[in-house]
Amino acid sequence: MTATIIDGKAFAAKVRAEVAEHVARLKEERGLVPGLAVVLVGENPASQVYVKSKGKQTVEVGMASFEHKLDRDTSEADLLALIDRLNADPAVHGILVQLPLPSHLNSELVINRIDPAKDVDGFHISNVGLLGTGQKSMVPCTPLGCLMMLRDHHGKLAGMEAVVVGRSNIVGKPMAQLLLGDSCTVTIAHSRTKDLGEVCRRADILVAAVGRPEMIPGDWVKPGATVIDVGINRIERDGKQVLVGDVDYAGAAKVAGAITPVPGGVGPMTIACLLANTLTACCRANGLPEPEGLTA
Ligand code: NDP
Repeated sequence: MTATIIDGKAFAAKVRAEVAEHVARLKEERGLVPGLAVVLVGENPASQVYVKSKGKQTVEVGMASFEHKLDRDTSEADLLALIDRLNADPAVHGILVQLPLPSHLNSELVINRIDPAKDVDGFHISNVGLLGTGQKSMVPCTPLGCLMMLRDHHGKLAGMEAVVVGRSNIVGKPMAQLLLGDSCTVTIAHSRTKDLGEVCRRADILVAAVGRPEMIPGDWVKPGATVIDVGINRIERDGKQVLVGDVDYAGAAKVAGAITPVPGGVGPMTIACLLANTLTACCRANGLPEPEGLTA
């Protein structure tokens, strides 16, 4: 069997086009422009690249982009004061504080200062609780992107065996909650899981969110399963720097029914879902119906 490739790049472009259509309609019919504020503290090179890309894509779908670049040694009080101003600003519907923050800043405190209704990363404790109890929330972007791809590929997910490898607050746990919300039978595996291969082989849907290059071999994949590889690992191969996932792509693609590549799978969906969340936040803030197919 050769797996169908789930093309995240193409799917993300489709999501962005849908977002852009909604945004154009909001402007025309309501005079509303969804706005996303991104706060970057310090000069972490990877964060700078992400923030630039987020700003560019925000503008491309017709939204307003507000970038706040603060010095590395910004005080917690100043950062919290900025978040308070953004919370109060009606032109800002989504607020994202780029992580990681410099070590003198308390990330939890900072994230929990964001108005939960504007927390487009879905990391605020209220949103975590709402998702965990199956209520309407802002959903973390990477797992939301995975869910959208799975729904697109399978239609209904009810009754499927899902295994999520990784239990981080950013990916693994919310991914498991979303799959549970779609009535999958969910197992969360982690570094202490016994016989991980056996657990993975049960999965109709296998989500890998570990951060270890190619640690999941093809023979851990159930024939016909759908593999979602969230991992982004930079390794050296044949003298070149390359990106690989947490799954041995070549091995898994021979067994799986469908698989996301790295790069070009989950990665592009994350920013697309950030834009979708900003649109959703704008609709909710204005008492308008949420865009269909762009939320959990
Ligand atoms: P974390 O490091 O926060 O979590 C990794 C998880 O993997 C932990 O729960 C850990 O278990 C588990 N784990 C580690 N080693 C093993 C092992 N040998 N066997 C089983 N489980 C193991 O990572 P993140 O969740 O933040 O990210 C995971 C990957 O996804 C990374 O490669 C990251 O770069 C990528 N990523 C990609 C995004 C995208 O846009 N595509 C966005 C976010 C992340 P334990 O809890 O027991 O330590």
